[in-house]
Amino acid sequence: MRDIQIGGLVSFTTIDYPGKLAAVVFLVGCPLRCAYCSNPHLLNVGDGEYDPEKVFEWLQSRVGKLEAVVFSGGEALMQGDALIEYMRRVKDLGFYIGLHTNGFYPETLKKASEIVDWIGLDYKATRNKYPELVGQNIAHDHMIKSLCAWLDTGKDMEVRITCDPRHVTKLDLLEIIQDLHSRGVKKIAIQKYVPHFEDNEHGTTPEQRNQFFNDDNLRNNINSLFDSVIWRE
Ligand code: SF4
Repeated sequence: MRDIQIGGLVSFTTIDYPGKLAAVVFLVGCPLRCAYCSNPHLLNVGDGEYDPEKVFEWLQSRVGKLEAVVFSGGEALMQGDALIEYMRRVKDLGFYIGLHTNGFYPETLKKASEIVDWIGLDYKATRNKYPELVGQNIAHDHMIKSLCAWLDTGKDMEVRITCDPRHVTKLDLLEIIQDLHSRGVKKIAIQKYVPHFEDNEHGTTPEQRNQFFNDDNLRNNINSLFDSVIWRE
């Protein structure tokens, strides 16, 4: 079996796995090309910068110091069975396993759900706007399949909506919220779009980016529908 390809590592974080001290392992490769991607250096599959065995040895040295390991990307599930086998080894060390995913690989997610304890799933836009945002026609349908598959496991999750005003309006946000509510999602995060150096040419104003966060009616309406809503500014 081939090794996984690792392009980055965060050695300590308190915000990437709810309530747990964690490390984050970033895998290279992603089937999407989101307009706001902040990790463009991780999008293409190639030789990872990090030796997976050295990362594993380092994780062994973190036993008793960290509680969880989160696999992120890129899209970590793009690495299929090699990733699942690696996550199994990491779980056997005693860590909780987290996964940040765009939901593009529902069948792989189902296989991984035996090992993964928690996911953060991106719900990026309404179905009709998904293609313009991610450059992929079927990504929304795949994401919904992943969402349903994970809900079936009964395991913990957070659904994240990044409010890029170029692709999400307040009405869009409410449509997404209603969809999540009707499917029985309990925990969501509304994330502010933060432009990075590569998309300055499509500039947005602070007012446009803040509009979702300054609207008390919108916030109260959304807060009333879920057990947990994090407004991530
Ligand atoms: S899914 Fe994530 S890693 Fe992939 S292109 Fe979109 S923002 Fe970037």
